[in-house]
Amino acid sequence: MLPSLVQTAYIIAAVLFVLALAGLSRHETAKLGNAAGMVGMVIAIAATVAEALRSAERGPVVTGVLILVAVLIGATIGLWRSRTVEMTGMPQLIAMLHSFVGLAAVLVGVGSFLDTAHSDLAHRIEVAIGVLIGAYTFTGSLVAFAKLSGRMKSKALMLPGRHVLNLLALIAAIGCTVWFALAPQFPFGLIALLAIALLGFALGWHMVASIGGGDMPVVVSMLNSYSGWAAAAAGFMLGNDLLIITGALVGSSGAILSYLMCQGMNRSFVSVILGGFGEGTGGVQEDRDYGEYRETSAPEVAGLLERARTVVITPGYGMAVAKAQGPVAQLTQLLRDRGVSVRFGIHPVAGRLPGHMNVLLAEAKVPYDIVLEMDEVNDDFADTDVVLVIGANDTVNPAALEEPHSPIAGMPVLEVWHAREVIVFKRSMAAGYAGVQNPLFFRDNTRMLFGDARERVQDIIKAL
Ligand code: NDP
Repeated sequence: MLPSLVQTAYIIAAVLFVLALAGLSRHETAKLGNAAGMVGMVIAIAATVAEALRSAERGPVVTGVLILVAVLIGATIGLWRSRTVEMTGMPQLIAMLHSFVGLAAVLVGVGSFLDTAHSDLAHRIEVAIGVLIGAYTFTGSLVAFAKLSGRMKSKALMLPGRHVLNLLALIAAIGCTVWFALAPQFPFGLIALLAIALLGFALGWHMVASIGGGDMPVVVSMLNSYSGWAAAAAGFMLGNDLLIITGALVGSSGAILSYLMCQGMNRSFVSVILGGFGEGTGGVQEDRDYGEYRETSAPEVAGLLERARTVVITPGYGMAVAKAQGPVAQLTQLLRDRGVSVRFGIHPVAGRLPGHMNVLLAEAKVPYDIVLEMDEVNDDFADTDVVLVIGANDTVNPAALEEPHSPIAGMPVLEVWHAREVIVFKRSMAAGYAGVQNPLFFRDNTRMLFGDARERVQDIIKAL
């Protein structure tokens, strides 16, 4: 009776996960999608625990207590982190969570091997692949965490012959997989499996370290996809159908997102998978002199806005850091009440998460219909009186189109410089996440408004 109930619960949970993905793909249905995912996960956990208690070798009481202790520890840490994490800390938290999935797949693989040393060939291949993907995801996500949280430079690591190193590591991993599959006897099987894990760790670390800051969004979504495949591999090793389905959903949706991001950023999908990004960094002229920049003040910007008919706001990561979305929404309303046309131009990789800016603007209750994607707004800049670049940098950098050796070369950007006046809100002349200077700041029609974006927007509101 219980096994068929568990299977039914798994099917219901799987359908809810599909509905969750469908719901999350549109603003209007996102909350419903989230709720479907949460209900699905509760059903999935309840069914898995029931199944674990039923088939527990040590008896349901001991297993129940072990599960309870694990859930309490996990839930306490999870609740604490979700209450304390800032919105700007979300990207690195997500990278860290991906790394846990990878590590779990490695541990499940090693545990599964030690438990069933004389398993069949297919199972051993599953274990080897699961451990390789898991190990890659683990260290790759840790490097992504370090790069996103500023603990490691976002610039690409350029080891000599890096592609050859990657290829050799991959060949060695395949060799160890064959060895492990054909000769699993203790201790050689374990040595081969640990070698696969070590090679996976090295590959994950190196491939993500050799990717430049501007290309990190694609890598983060690739790691999301890998974490799904690692979970699916763990599902195969544990014989858990729901984990296979859930992992495959995460893996394939992450792969689709990565593909779309590659298209949006004009990058090659294959090149990301092979860790081949950042190849253009060799010829960057970091100390290039772009000339003088000009400063402005909040009252001057207020004056400009009073005379403007059309305004476009292009927010970036700095808006999230400054928590400026509330005042930005207020300024938008104020201008719209005075008959000014105000719209937002959102770059697909603005901020540090897919959809980062959309989430912040929705939170500040900016109407969806004035929030446009880059392609929808790029042709309109020439007819725009004032562009307010609020904490954006790489996503409005003309070097992407004009400097072929720039690390962000080829990435489509918001072409704000075609507008009559461009006001850049930032605290200093520091480079953006990709680590390259922005020639926009030195153009004749650009004025820098230095300071915290939230305070400066509030100053403008006061002056208006
Ligand atoms: P950038 O990260 O390029 O620049 C942010 C700017 O905000 C900086 O120039 C900084 O300058 C300014 N800033 C920071 N804090 C404040 C503040 N309190 N007030 C005012 N300004 C502030 O931002 P973009 O959004 O343009 O670009 C995103 C970058 O992140 C891209 O390179 C993208 O590839 C990468 N990325 C994106 C991910 C995604 O999924 N969206 C994931 C991973 C990386 P200053 O310090 O001088 O104030």
